[in-house]
Amino acid sequence: MEFGLTPDQKSFVDEVDAFCAAECRNIDINDLEAKGADPEGIEQKLAARGWYGLPFPTEYGGAGMGYFHVGLLIERLVRGGYPYPGRLQITTLNGLNVLKSGTHAQKKDLLTKIARGERTMSISVTEPNAGSDIASMQTRAEEQNGGYVINGQKLYSSGAVGEKNIIMVATRTDFSVKAHRGLTLFLVPSTSKGLQFNRLESMGRNIGGLYEVFFDDVWVPKENILGEVNKGWTAMTGGFNAERAIVSAGYLGFAERIFNDALKIAASRFGLGTAAEQRGAVMCRLAEYATEIQAAKLLIYQALGLADRHELSIEAVCQCKVYTSELVKRLGDFCCEIAAGQGCLMDSLVQWYYRESRIVTVGGGSSQIMRNVAAAQLGLK
Ligand SMILES: Cc1cc2nc3c(=O)[nH]c(=O)nc-3n(C[C@H](O)[C@H](O)[C@H](O)COP(=O)(O)OP(=O)(O)OC[C@H]3O[C@@H](n4cnc5c(N)ncnc54)[C@H](O)[C@@H]3O)c2cc1C
Repeated sequence: MEFGLTPDQKSFVDEVDAFCAAECRNIDINDLEAKGADPEGIEQKLAARGWYGLPFPTEYGGAGMGYFHVGLLIERLVRGGYPYPGRLQITTLNGLNVLKSGTHAQKKDLLTKIARGERTMSISVTEPNAGSDIASMQTRAEEQNGGYVINGQKLYSSGAVGEKNIIMVATRTDFSVKAHRGLTLFLVPSTSKGLQFNRLESMGRNIGGLYEVFFDDVWVPKENILGEVNKGWTAMTGGFNAERAIVSAGYLGFAERIFNDALKIAASRFGLGTAAEQRGAVMCRLAEYATEIQAAKLLIYQALGLADRHELSIEAVCQCKVYTSELVKRLGDFCCEIAAGQGCLMDSLVQWYYRESRIVTVGGGSSQIMRNVAAAQLGLK
């Protein structure tokens, strides 16, 4: 087993850190949350560096790098101040689905444009009555006029709007079968006729926005089917393991960002001159969190390395996703606790950390669901 980064990986990390120092330092989180927008100009600069196309093959305009590199990119961006989870993460994860299940034409068109920063992607799977139990979804797609007409409603769709956005939408195309069978994925431009968006007032995920999406006779051509008809479940879940390792790298970056600020708060508020027991208690907890961050890093780097070798097990993914998301949640709480009154003020980043970190255990497979899956791997039912 190898520990540590290769010289290539180290210089990549340095490049991302330098980018963050130059571009992310002055991002106004409150302003972005109010607008439901991505940080102006930064996405284009990320694309110009080739980071929007990092995992795509060169024939689709990408850099052909593996999951480890993508995980490092996302970790360091979030650690360095790029808003969590960021348009790049959401687009990359969905772009990987297109890479896995798309036709050559879809890849040529969509991935090339993502790599150039001309397209973004989001995902709409969850519905009012289909959250963790995805297979209960009711949004339907029916064949009509050489394509499909989609009707239904999706909920909690992150970053679903935008002139250049494409939504990967999960629908039911066969109602005669149940559960995971009979589902089909479609690539639906956010500008499609018949789509309506309602931005949700939420405690988090306000950068880029969280949306309710209504489909009223939205027609898409057959060319927009991703994967095979009625085999959407396979297309959607086939890459879950590697994707969740990347999502965990985002949690890790967020944990590091919160931790680094907690360190600064502790240094300024609990230095010499404050009560020894108060200082000692905070110092001990910081030392423990530093250890936990290192443990999370080892789990995630291992998972990303295994993903690159196509050896990543569901068990390893559950471990890093649950461990790191729960760690972020506790760190957000801890940072708020030590910043106290100051951290509660709306112009403080600490309250944003607190709100955003509280919800990381909900999306992308909640902690409970991940634990269920991990328990099943242990032979428990
Ligand atoms: C910030 C944020 C962003 C999101 N972005 C997107 C997005 O871009 N696209 C999208 O499609 N969805 C998105 N979601 C939706 C997210 O995937 C769902 O919220 C999640 O799947 C849980 O569904 P639910 O909220 O309906 O809760 P439910 O599924 O109703 O679960 C309620 C509670 O019960 C627990 N639970 C459920 N089933 C079980 C079980 N079998 N065993 C044990 N416990 C269980 C859950 O863990 C949870 O604690 C987002 C959610 C959030 C909060």
